[in-house]
Amino acid sequence: MFVFKEEKTSFAVGHMALAYLLGKASAKLLKVNINIPLILVLSIIPDIDILFDFLFNSDMHRGPTHSIIVAIVVFIPFFLLYRQRATPYFAALASHSLIGDFLIGGQLQLLWPLSTNEFGARELGFPYINIYNPINVALEFTLFAIALAVMLKTRDLFHFFRNSKLNLILIIPIFTVLLPTFISYPLRVPLLLILPHLFYLIIFSIAVSLAFFRKRT
Ligand SMILES: [Zn+2]
Repeated sequence: MFVFKEEKTSFAVGHMALAYLLGKASAKLLKVNINIPLILVLSIIPDIDILFDFLFNSDMHRGPTHSIIVAIVVFIPFFLLYRQRATPYFAALASHSLIGDFLIGGQLQLLWPLSTNEFGARELGFPYINIYNPINVALEFTLFAIALAVMLKTRDLFHFFRNSKLNLILIIPIFTVLLPTFISYPLRVPLLLILPHLFYLIIFSIAVSLAFFRKRT
């Protein structure tokens, strides 16, 4: 039977909020525009291995898809093509492993394929913080609240209601990290984080429906 290792994971809410804030900051610094749905999808894409483990009963979570080496290699063509405009997207992807998963929930194969060793904040002498630790729950909720405030102030929230076919990519977070949290797979969600999860789930579902059903103008 498939057993999910709850101690080796993190919530989507924190990843998405962190990537959004980093994406916004780097975009402002570089004076470039960003696509918000794409930033959010990149921030959770490493956790696609959860789906893989579920389907094939493998033990890949926090493995190759969480490697910073893989992220750099994947982004080389985008940096060559789009130069600095690729930076906010790379920051969104890298933040998942380098910040979120590195600090919370144990170790990951950060340097795969150069090394299959697992690294985490514990290696640097920091205490192990489980996702259910109140510090993590409070941190994720705070990040969500700040991200939401910025989304409202900058009117970025309206990106989700625009007629853009690219918004269809939000199907990925819906099915890999948002819906599973509500059918108790792969993990239980603390009360404080249910609202942010629901918020993203509803906004993304509306965005996908609009992108799917609206005719191009
Ligand atoms: Zn992860």
